Amino acid sequence: MAPALSPKSYSKLYINGQYVDAISKKTLTLLNPKDNTLVTESVPNAGAEDVDLAVSYAEDAFTGPWSTFTAAERSACFLRLVNILDDRLPDILYLDSLTTGNPISLIPTREKNYIKNCLLYYAGWTDKQRGDYFPADDGFVKLVRHEPLGVCAAINPYNSPVASLFIKAAPCLATGNVLIVKPSEKGPLGSLAVAPLFEEAGFPPGVLQVLSGDGRTGALLAEHMRIRKISFTGSVATGKKIQIAAAKSNLKRVTLELGGKSPAIVFDDANLENAVNWTVNGILARSGQVCVAASRVYVHEKIFQDFLEAYCKRMEAASHKLGNPQDDTTAYGPLVDQGAYERVRKMIEEAHSEAELVLGGAQHGTEGCFIPPTVFINPKPGAKIITDEVFGPVSVVQSFKYEEEVIGFANDTEYGLMAGVFTKDVSRALRVSAKIQSGVVGVNCVSQMNIQAPFGGSKASGIGREFGEYALRAFTEPKTVLIK
Ligand code: NAD
Repeated sequence: MAPALSPKSYSKLYINGQYVDAISKKTLTLLNPKDNTLVTESVPNAGAEDVDLAVSYAEDAFTGPWSTFTAAERSACFLRLVNILDDRLPDILYLDSLTTGNPISLIPTREKNYIKNCLLYYAGWTDKQRGDYFPADDGFVKLVRHEPLGVCAAINPYNSPVASLFIKAAPCLATGNVLIVKPSEKGPLGSLAVAPLFEEAGFPPGVLQVLSGDGRTGALLAEHMRIRKISFTGSVATGKKIQIAAAKSNLKRVTLELGGKSPAIVFDDANLENAVNWTVNGILARSGQVCVAASRVYVHEKIFQDFLEAYCKRMEAASHKLGNPQDDTTAYGPLVDQGAYERVRKMIEEAHSEAELVLGGAQHGTEGCFIPPTVFINPKPGAKIITDEVFGPVSVVQSFKYEEEVIGFANDTEYGLMAGVFTKDVSRALRVSAKIQSGVVGVNCVSQMNIQAPFGGSKASGIGREFGEYALRAFTEPKTVLIK
């Protein structure tokens, strides 16, 4: 597969249905993490005036043409977009691969299906958002309307930029809102490229706009007085800043999808091969750069050695599948940039004093930001490698004896996003799922999400939920109408 879209042609912001020069005149520099070569240095870095302009057009669209669309018309836009994306998405996702290092081998199946399913799912919701009604037993009829919030903004991470755009845009637009998207400064190309397809599908200009930029652009959105909601996905540190900015400005609504340190618990009756498959895929997908990465694996002591042997064999085999992300036979790419590479290398170095390295660790290759699959065992209590998110292909495998003990291990972190329980015993699966502090628990699977069911974090992994009907609630507000 060769690049059909040129990264250098994305040198403008997407505002009110057009590519326009950034008033800020500032730009971002983007490198390809496979070899640190220049991809482009002309992507705009939006400033305050660009943000103001986009907000004004968003307000016009919200109160103007978009407000006249019936639910069926909104749904039809979604369905036309699905058809348009069928041909165009692969080239758009390829663009992102150039700066994020995401392997293009994921595009034809995983990425494309994920995005299409998301749009199809929310296309079906536009006319099914009921309000509520309470009878006039006290002389008042009570009607409850679920109303859109208005101008919303999405601030996205780098690991899956276009999928993040759709996960937020679909429920946001299905409920009649308008959205300004700020992709990560490490992966803005695909989001800039996909934006005009919304108008092509029939969405009015201003309904979906894209402002590329760095953290400062994100902060401008978070503190903006006329933006009514921020839907954020990214790190805990940035999530806290956004919540503070929202509180200090106009108390805009905030949804935070943050990091994780997901535990997988493998009991001695589990199907070993299945547990190995899920836990290996769970830590290696996007080279560990996913929020739901299965970075802690707890294995019952009776099967610990057998599991570790099979797990390391699979991880070792995967280290031979690391390579050029723009080669469609590559399974695993580099980390996103040199900064991420240095950070993960440092965490691995420091982990040597608190756990035992059994696989990987060393540099992979001579150029680029590649980290091989890396496995530690026997961590000391409180070791950083079992409490801190690595966001790389690094896991810790630890043995346990008792159910209560392993529940304690699993919950012993500030995060609470995803967990996995591997057992054939249904009662145990339900008992343990109930006690684990996380937004999602997989039984005989891990690092998995589904568009129909709510997804999000407990504890420091976030506030609010995406996916399913829950995402619609997060983009609407109830209004009670009392009729005497
Ligand atoms: P990040 O927090 O560094 O950046 C995310 C976005 O926030 C970027 O667009 C960035 O420009 C912007 N930003 C930075 N500073 C800001 C500020 N002060 N105000 C407003 N916006 C600002 O995160 P990242 O490194 O891009 O992504 C990795 C993190 O995201 C990991 O912690 C990962 O677990 C998390 N993540 C979570 C989910 C989820 O659904 N829970 C999904 C993917 C990634």
